[in-house]
Amino acid sequence: MNAPAPQARPAARALLSLDDALARLVAGSLPHALAQTETISTFEALGRVLAADVRSMLDVPPADNTSMDGYAVRAADVPAAGTVLPVSQRIPAGVVGEPLAPGTAARIFTGAQVPPGADAVVMQEQCEAVPDPDGASGAGGLGRVRIQAIPEAGQWVRWRGEDVCAGATVLVRGTRLTPQALGLAASVGAGTLTVLRRPRVALFSTGDELVMPGEPLKPGAIYNSNRFTLRGLLQAGGCEVSDFGIVPDRLDATRQALQRAAAGSDLIVTSGGVSVGEEDHLRPAVRAEGRIENWQIAMKPGKPLAFGAVRRPGGSAQAGEALFVGLPGNPVSSYVTFLLCVSTVLRAMQGLDPALPAPLPLAAAFDWPRPDKRREFLRVRLNAEGALELFPNQSSGVLTSAVWADGLVDNPAGRSIARGDKVRYLPLAELLAR
Ligand code: AMP
Ligand code: MG
Repeated sequence: MNAPAPQARPAARALLSLDDALARLVAGSLPHALAQTETISTFEALGRVLAADVRSMLDVPPADNTSMDGYAVRAADVPAAGTVLPVSQRIPAGVVGEPLAPGTAARIFTGAQVPPGADAVVMQEQCEAVPDPDGASGAGGLGRVRIQAIPEAGQWVRWRGEDVCAGATVLVRGTRLTPQALGLAASVGAGTLTVLRRPRVALFSTGDELVMPGEPLKPGAIYNSNRFTLRGLLQAGGCEVSDFGIVPDRLDATRQALQRAAAGSDLIVTSGGVSVGEEDHLRPAVRAEGRIENWQIAMKPGKPLAFGAVRRPGGSAQAGEALFVGLPGNPVSSYVTFLLCVSTVLRAMQGLDPALPAPLPLAAAFDWPRPDKRREFLRVRLNAEGALELFPNQSSGVLTSAVWADGLVDNPAGRSIARGDKVRYLPLAELLAR
């Protein structure tokens, strides 16, 4: 349950607003923008970020074609329902017909090019094959057709270029390639695409209490869930992940892990150990290996967050440094701060718009009488009435809430919610696709 707001707080360091934190993440990430591109098969490009516009060299569709099985005609040849025309040719998809002889119909199948001269297609449901008067079939053995409805010129014809005209830019650089974007690229004949190289991200979890699933749970231990959540989020975001596993709560071990992680990565993401406790070694370790800012962000879940950079071995200016984001250890906190903060860093590094998706105003189907002083991100789910249900336990350790929820309510600091109030809903699908 939501803990009651504390009565009085000790004088604390002023918290950083999430908007300020995001602006600083963007500013700190832009100098690390990825520049290298690679040209890869369109087959392999799902989820990649396009680095060059895709232009079409052709019209799509490349020719007028039919969207129905039926008969291609000149509309003017069918002035009345019941008109009978001889069938002069048969045109399956993939076959190019002859110009349509006046006063005839062409049997035609979906996707086939409409023959020159025809300007309409009559669907076969409105046609009836008729035997020839002499009982034999007509010229070429195709018989005749009775057309039961007067066609309108243009009906059931998909015109050349109605989707894409030759010369048009169909995908712009900076687009994340979705399945439908790959389909569009393929439809204009693009067999390869120029994309940004994948961000290389090193991941490790800190905590002496952590044990991998599959191993027995010793007293005092918990299973390492963040490793799976964060690794999955990175993979889903198109990153090349180097996973350094669990790092013990010791300064030397943390420094060594940072050095190894920095060697081959653009960004290091860690979970746990960023608070100010004596067992939290990330801050001093990153300070020793590079530079760090520690933030207390006015958000819930997810208050502590560290942002900085770790020098790569070699020490030369060329070797540079890997960016560093240290996420809080609580599973929901690390999940939510990844969605809001790490994805912002990754987007800025890839030249994508780093702004959070715009929230949708939707009605709350719950009461939230005791809001936090910090901006809250509540785990909610859209119900069949289009209103938002609240997961009953909003604790930052309750991972079931993250699986149950299909979105977050972005609730301003100190704002109580009554059933029916409009709240700001961020669909997870939008956050995850960033
Ligand atoms: P910390 O930020 O290291 O103080 O951790 C805060 C809380 O999150 C503690 O209860 C930890 O046991 C828990 N925690 C830290 N890392 C993980 C992890 N990788 N998986 C699951 N829980 C974690
Ligand atoms: Mg810890």
